[in-house]
Amino acid sequence: MKILVQKFGGTSVATLERMQKVREKVSNALRRFNKIVVVLSARAGDTNNLLQLAGQWSPAPDKAECDLLVSTGEQMSIGLFTMLLKDADIRARSLLGSQIPITTDDSFGCARILEINSAALLDWLNQYDVLVVAGFQGCTIDGRVTTLGRGGSDTSAVALAAALGSVECEIYTDVDGVYTTDPNICSSARKIDRIAYNEMLEMASMGAKVLHIRSVEFAQKYRVPVRVRSTFTDDPGTLVTQEDSTMEAVLVSGIAYDRDQARVTLRDLPDVPGVAAAVFGPLSEKGILVDMIVQNTSLGGHTDITFTIPRKELKQTLEIMANVAPKLGAAEVLHDVNVAKVSAIGVGMRNHSGVAARTFAALTKEGINILMISTSEIKITILIQEKYVELAVRILHDTFGLDWDLS
Ligand code: ADP
Ligand code: ASP
Ligand code: MG
Repeated sequence: MKILVQKFGGTSVATLERMQKVREKVSNALRRFNKIVVVLSARAGDTNNLLQLAGQWSPAPDKAECDLLVSTGEQMSIGLFTMLLKDADIRARSLLGSQIPITTDDSFGCARILEINSAALLDWLNQYDVLVVAGFQGCTIDGRVTTLGRGGSDTSAVALAAALGSVECEIYTDVDGVYTTDPNICSSARKIDRIAYNEMLEMASMGAKVLHIRSVEFAQKYRVPVRVRSTFTDDPGTLVTQEDSTMEAVLVSGIAYDRDQARVTLRDLPDVPGVAAAVFGPLSEKGILVDMIVQNTSLGGHTDITFTIPRKELKQTLEIMANVAPKLGAAEVLHDVNVAKVSAIGVGMRNHSGVAARTFAALTKEGINILMISTSEIKITILIQEKYVELAVRILHDTFGLDWDLS
């Protein structure tokens, strides 16, 4: 049985006309594949509205109830879309995450998929030509509804593709592929035809929200080819796939940015073993993801530690630090929310030096101050004042020749 998984994002299902366009894509695919599994997001804006509603009802909405509420956005879109398929005499049924089930852990709001009942899906695929699955949601072993984190429908789709042995997973969105940087902030961004899983993983982790990070992790682990393409054109889009030697010829493949950053500094900590563990241990216990970390060299037996976290975690982080800092004898806790990070990414960096120096020189020319730096084998990230983000993205895009079409 040749199965294709197709995922359509919020803008693609926002109106009746757009859903009709999606139906066209699905019925065209039915000519090439025996069975289609369609994964849908909530209609554009619905998830935000539901989250806002939760915030109006409660100052700190219960996480489990919030997931139950927010998951209804996808329930609406699969109900509406399956009606359209049936009106066109396509044998189809809708499925919620909990009906399959897609079993997750109990980290409400950012749950991880543990298992997918693929046997049940294959049974349904014997009865129906198209299964329409609600993205972004699953349920715990004891049946409580969970959600996978913002943008999580991509992960639902790739996980389903892996579980069903789908030939490819198509991710339909409002841009016609993965670009060298966000085309909505840099007009010279170019579409990339093929990108390696690890480059895409760094792009997604560094803020390119075109694919949810965990969807790329799943794709890489289970070797699912993912094609990012537009619902509104017939462009073949971008294939996210295994790395090959041609990809290494390019020094930098893309520039990503993330405004969702806050910086915290603990000043004048004693430079003794156990201090870093005492700072980061309580954050990790609360599930707060720390990103960049810098510890200064010791001056007179004292040091500063600076780290970044997602902005929404700042309040809780400061509460934790208000408890930790005095115990450790820190002089003060400082914070800054007007920061953002910009990253240059490329597997070609492995074999070439000078990327960091070129990055710093380009930013210096524009008078942009670098607050923090971190690097990995295929990435260099800098933290800067948020007001310079768009400028920094454009400068780096230009510096690494991403504006040039080499094809
Ligand atoms: P969907 O609702 O279909 O899941 P998203 O809004 O989550 O769509 O993702 C698509 C958006 O990702 C694009 O509109 C674009 O602004 C943004 N984006 C950021 N970086 C990139 C990139 N490198 N290539 C393409 N799109 C990008
Ligand atoms: N509807 C969810 C969100 O807006 C999931 C998704 O669209 O992928 O984040
Ligand atoms: Mg998305």
